Amino acid sequence: MAGDTPTSDDVLEPLKRHLRDLPYAFDVGPGWRQLVLACHRAVVEEFPEYELMAVKQKWGALAFQAFPRPWKPGGNWTHAEYARLSAVTDVFTTRSEGICERCGANGSLRESRRIHLVLCDRCEALVPEHGRL
Ligand SMILES: [Zn+2]
Repeated sequence: MAGDTPTSDDVLEPLKRHLRDLPYAFDVGPGWRQLVLACHRAVVEEFPEYELMAVKQKWGALAFQAFPRPWKPGGNWTHAEYARLSAVTDVFTTRSEGICERCGANGSLRESRRIHLVLCDRCEALVPEHGRL
């Protein structure tokens, strides 16, 4: 592949310092990377030191799994803070249900494969039966 691809992992560079475990691959398709970045920005605005466990796809939707602050024995945040963080990330999970994970166009949930995927009509025809993206 030549040139810079706006869908590469570099888009997610700002998230890396929040990760608990490195190295780490963000396990979502290229169509969702801008959405993941937007989710990060919304979270970091309220929780500048949030800790990121994983970014993945679960039952066709985005799962942005984070804590308000680095985890510590005995707790490092309140229930209210955790609920607030979940409310922020839920917005993006809901949004992901209408965005093609492969290309970022408007999509819908496709349940014909072993793995559920949100795809647009064009990508639905391109992703193989057994395939991920
Ligand atoms: Zn698509």
